[in-house]
Amino acid sequence: MPPETDKLTGLLTRTAFHEQAGRAMNSDSEGLALIWFNLDNFKMFNKRFGFPRGDELLREIAAIIRVIFPNNLSARFSDDNFAVLTDWASMEINSNMVQEYLYALHEDITLRLRAGIYFPSSGEDIRSCCDRAKLAADSIRKNHSVNSCMFHDAMSRELELQQHILDNLDGAIQNGAIRVLYQPIVRLSTGEICEAEALARWNDGELGTISPADFIPTLEEYREIHRLDIHALKQVCRDYRARSLKGLPVLPVSVNLSRLDFELCDILQEVELAVTLNEIPRNMLRLEITESIGDEDTTVLNLGIERFRAMGYEVWMDDFGSGYSSLNVLKDYNFDTIKFDMKFLHGFDIKKSEKAKYIISSNLQMARLMGMQALAEGVETAEQLEYLRSIGFDKAQGYYFGRPMNLDEIFSLGRASEK
Ligand code: C2E
Ligand code: MG
Ligand code: MG
Repeated sequence: MPPETDKLTGLLTRTAFHEQAGRAMNSDSEGLALIWFNLDNFKMFNKRFGFPRGDELLREIAAIIRVIFPNNLSARFSDDNFAVLTDWASMEINSNMVQEYLYALHEDITLRLRAGIYFPSSGEDIRSCCDRAKLAADSIRKNHSVNSCMFHDAMSRELELQQHILDNLDGAIQNGAIRVLYQPIVRLSTGEICEAEALARWNDGELGTISPADFIPTLEEYREIHRLDIHALKQVCRDYRARSLKGLPVLPVSVNLSRLDFELCDILQEVELAVTLNEIPRNMLRLEITESIGDEDTTVLNLGIERFRAMGYEVWMDDFGSGYSSLNVLKDYNFDTIKFDMKFLHGFDIKKSEKAKYIISSNLQMARLMGMQALAEGVETAEQLEYLRSIGFDKAQGYYFGRPMNLDEIFSLGRASEK
């Protein structure tokens, strides 16, 4: 097999595709289209059916691509990423056809192959064309009503923002552009602030405020999230230490961790180091983790959680009831506290629906039976608070009690019950 060919599928390799497609585009990019294919949940497929069947699936996709695009350049980049350089006129029909052939082959399981389409212009760098086609394919990951999508400029801005985030992470950590704010958490039985959640804030010299909704997913996608999390963790420990050195009151702080931290670094060691250096008792730190069903491998995270708990840290489940997380997740892991996601709570109009009340309170009961405390996020009104208290939530957090603020400010807030 020639070296430019992918061993598994016989399609071109990434390097060969870059070379050959780049040459074709330079000579004449008129009427060309680049299609990027990616499978949903390929890792899950491998896990469920084993790697040999995963490999077989990739070979099938390659064969379909070869049949449908016989005279075009096609490649497998890595894992389940495929690219085809074809002509503008037939690309949409043909990309749909690849998907239909694949469904026909596997009627028994749900396979979704997403296609992203980009129209290169002459002289454009082939790598950035591939990035754009990929971005279009990624943009419909959560939108199951379509299977293909054309690149548009808003995506390009997104790509630029992503690039900015990745290029400037180090600098932002070093020059203090990424800080930590604290949001109070209130114990409902007493109305007292019992803890605070540390939330990262990025105030960029060039772009102004960058939202966590942008930088967290980007850092996760590019597997750099642990660097932010370690920075936030160290900041929390330093803030805590500064108060305790002055003899001021302190309170336990919860820090957000990404599930990826457990793969990307030795997060337990990082926490231990920061805590030891700043002389912080382990029971003053909580670790919040978001987990959803469908995440491939529970072993690494499970082991990580158990180690933290055995050392004396509390581990909390964040964003319960959002996305795909559900009670199912609770059977796989042991958490000390469950944070009910604000969307979950706001999604039920408690005034109108008795059913909504039953659903929330039975979830709450179940958490209780499993020995966990329940915290409600996103509380904005006195009415919501009253309801949550009436059904027995232990703690609550939200703008009603306070927005994220400097640690010192938390201690100047009154009791929530005095509002
Ligand atoms: P989260 O951990 O669920 O944090 C709660 C989010 O809800 C925060 O948004 C907070 O400002 C917001 N919030 C709190 N109360 C209310 C309310 O009453 N109403 C409304 N509408 N929103 C409220 P933020 O700070 O934008 O953070 C978003 C997410 O980013 C966090 O969700 C967390 O998942 C992630 N994140 C933030 N900092 C870090 C970090 O240092 N590391 C990691 N891995 N993730 C972080
Ligand atoms: Mg959180
Ligand atoms: Mg949350």
